[in-house]
Amino acid sequence: MRDTCSRFRSRLADAAEGNTNVELAEHLGQCTVCSQIISEYKTIFATASGLWESAPLESIQLAKALMPETRRVLFAKRLSVGAAATARGPQEEFQVLVGGEDISMRLMATPTTEGWSIRGKVPNADWIVYAENAVQMPDGRFEFTVPTLEDSSFDVLGEDTILQVPALSQLMTYDSD
Ligand SMILES: [Zn+2]
Repeated sequence: MRDTCSRFRSRLADAAEGNTNVELAEHLGQCTVCSQIISEYKTIFATASGLWESAPLESIQLAKALMPETRRVLFAKRLSVGAAATARGPQEEFQVLVGGEDISMRLMATPTTEGWSIRGKVPNADWIVYAENAVQMPDGRFEFTVPTLEDSSFDVLGEDTILQVPALSQLMTYDSD
């Protein structure tokens, strides 16, 4: 069963958004594990609506010192991720959605020998990721590696927006089971 599941794993987030196909639907009918992951993604996506909020005053003032006044500073708030998370945090590849309906980014975290590889795509291709060692493609896809999830906070600079994405370790609550 596990081999079968891994074939579908990267498509579960899409499926939670309604993009599924016959093959996957068939698998979901037989697999409670993948069905559970999809329901968790659905919860994440529902929770993510309206998650951006205004930054605390001191952060706004700091940003204004660096940027024209029209720029906004936004934060992502905590999300809930159940898939593959243990009491010590996630041990396997997982995805989170940060943001809300107007601006959102899906992030994928993959364990590597050096820590975690964080991949995603900026909301607009000309927005720039500010993270150490970040590699960004012309289409907006980006990737960087961090030693631990605690080190994974980064900024995305758009024309009139700064997205401040907290460390993925802070974005998640873990199911205790
Ligand atoms: Zn499965």
